[in-house]
Amino acid sequence: MSTKIKLGISRCLLGEAVRYDGGHKLDRFLTETLGKYVEYVPVCPEVECGMPIPREAMHLEGDPESPRLVTIRTKIDKTDQMTGWAAKRVVDLEKDGLMGYIFKSDSPSSGMERVKVYNDKNMAVRKGVGLFARAFMDHFPLLPAEEEGRLHDPAIRENFIERVFALARWREVLAANKGFGGLVEFHTKHKFLILSHSTKSYQEMGRLVAGANRAPLQKLLDSYQKLLMEALRLRATPKKNANVLMHMAGYFKDQLSSGEKRELLEIIELYRKELVPLIVPITLVNHYVLIYDQPYLKSQYYLNPHPIELQLRNHV
Ligand code: SF4
Repeated sequence: MSTKIKLGISRCLLGEAVRYDGGHKLDRFLTETLGKYVEYVPVCPEVECGMPIPREAMHLEGDPESPRLVTIRTKIDKTDQMTGWAAKRVVDLEKDGLMGYIFKSDSPSSGMERVKVYNDKNMAVRKGVGLFARAFMDHFPLLPAEEEGRLHDPAIRENFIERVFALARWREVLAANKGFGGLVEFHTKHKFLILSHSTKSYQEMGRLVAGANRAPLQKLLDSYQKLLMEALRLRATPKKNANVLMHMAGYFKDQLSSGEKRELLEIIELYRKELVPLIVPITLVNHYVLIYDQPYLKSQYYLNPHPIELQLRNHV
């Protein structure tokens, strides 16, 4: 990327002591590994909306669809203080050009899903969304968003980071202002990546791009971005990835010996059965792309969607 990717993040995940008890929730994968490739924009909703450190613990109460943020011991309702600040802060964040956000799980302010909401009998259901997280996701519905807890799952982690990098490449195309040509070029390079998530989206996006000249440019770009982010959110399963890899293997039908073909297909099958990780067939395909200088596959981001040093495909 020409500039570092910016990600919003719950400030306590960076190790800053902003939690209600004066502590933090440092996440070393985020700071030490992913942190080498992104620039974080830290946000602590509770401190930024005017609450002290330390402060009384809070939780969500009432209707899980629109809960109140209330201090647990003294029962002071902080909802208006938080939502009033959040409405302004999300507008302010527009200027940062964020490519995604990593929320702190379980927090009544920052939790993205399954946050406890208490009823008047002090019984909790895990159906809430933290008040700032709600405001953020409503304001930026297409931005990749995840929680640090869920990011410990290798498949969720790979999916989130893949979406972040794809969005960053898309934004570079928009910034370069290349019009229809830029759209067609981006789509061509992402065909296999999109296909690995959804055949339906792949076909729909193909039709959109094929009819590109008939729609006003801005409308077309908006529609494409929405379809792209929705498609990439769908899980790329071993079955879908194996399908893509089989397509790619077809590009070498005239170059590989029968033994090499058999080996490639066997490795794809081992991956489909989840006996080896995705990086194994990808490495072999990349090897053949390099040896035979296959121009179309060389351009495919599917083979190289994020920095290999993150080792995201070693565990999926
Ligand atoms: S979870 Fe959110 S509100 Fe709580 S300390 Fe972390 S950043 Fe601040």
